Amino acid sequence: MAATKGKNLENIQQMNRTLVLKLLQQNKICARSELSKQSGLKQATITNIINDFIAWGIVEEIGFLEGMRGRRSIAVTLERKRHCVAAVRISRRYFMVGLVDFLGEEVSKPYKENVSGQAPEMIIAKIKRTIKRVIAENDKIISAIGVAVPGPYFYKEGEIGIITDAPGWEKVSIKKELEQDFSIPVVVDHDANAGVLAECSFRETKFSNDTIIYLAVGQGIGAGISYHGRIIRGSLGIAGEVGHASINANGIKCECGNRGCLTLYASSRAFMEQAERERSSGKKTMLKEGFTLDELIEATVEKDKMAYSVFKKIVYYLSVGIINIIYIYNPHTLIIGDEMAAIGPLLIDEIMQNVDKLKSKRIAENVNVRLSSFQPDPAYIGASAVAIDHLFKNTELFDSAEERSAE
Ligand SMILES: [Zn+2]
Repeated sequence: MAATKGKNLENIQQMNRTLVLKLLQQNKICARSELSKQSGLKQATITNIINDFIAWGIVEEIGFLEGMRGRRSIAVTLERKRHCVAAVRISRRYFMVGLVDFLGEEVSKPYKENVSGQAPEMIIAKIKRTIKRVIAENDKIISAIGVAVPGPYFYKEGEIGIITDAPGWEKVSIKKELEQDFSIPVVVDHDANAGVLAECSFRETKFSNDTIIYLAVGQGIGAGISYHGRIIRGSLGIAGEVGHASINANGIKCECGNRGCLTLYASSRAFMEQAERERSSGKKTMLKEGFTLDELIEATVEKDKMAYSVFKKIVYYLSVGIINIIYIYNPHTLIIGDEMAAIGPLLIDEIMQNVDKLKSKRIAENVNVRLSSFQPDPAYIGASAVAIDHLFKNTELFDSAEERSAE
């Protein structure tokens, strides 16, 4: 039995088109000769591909680029005035909906609505209404809808496994629900996968052929793993659910059935709970009863004694998880996003102090740990990357995009 199937001519044409679109995304503005050089495709092939893209309206020529020996060449770029995708982020407490162009720039300010404790059916109805509103307010060609959801998410079936603290989602097919109302492709992915895809599509171009991990540290913890530009999903699609990897075999029992899960010790929720325990036990602090995460983060950055000592404990556990990730996946870049990233450079410094305790300096120095540049919500921009990735891999969808756009 063959492990992989052979490639027919149509597949190869699609692969080449995808590659050229990804190169255009990474280069932003580029000459045809440069695309030929970077892709390894003949100039004539590039010319044909670009001609199709221009005919579909997804690529345009924009003036000239100065080349070698003063030779000027025509610059091409992805069309951004009309083409975009709809991005939807669903989190435990809120959802966001807006439009994002092919380079990951926001076309419109996203709508954000708090939906804590509401039933999934009601939230889906609100999301549908908001998408319709965003479409009506912007005169754009919207070719796909990308959705980022918390996990574990079973990618093949398109079903959410469980969202801690938000029951009922496991019975909802978000993809089917949205496809019923909109006649364009709907692509759903786990928020950490969306996060890593955003980094690889719009930022980490130089290293996108290495192992890159996006670690979402929010109410839950999850990793999106990109290896040579492909997301590692595993058998069910739950690879990277490091929040439920144990850092203490005799630790607290988790909802998932395991003991000592990382998320119980190092999530923003754990941070809040521990700080509240310390405050109510009478520790001196600037934090008042009923403080918010933003206030706790502010107190930490201002080195409030109690907040800062809880922060150090939480990040110690987080670092244990990160060192596990380093040993399992050996990433070149590890990007931290979601709620805890709001702590800023202090968080990275603290993580690195723990990672630097590794005896092998080579291991510690090889991994580049940094904050996501998509603030405040990498998974929202990631939702657009999920949709764009799908379009770029299925370029026939552009052929008639104008007629099918939106509704
Ligand atoms: Zn667990």
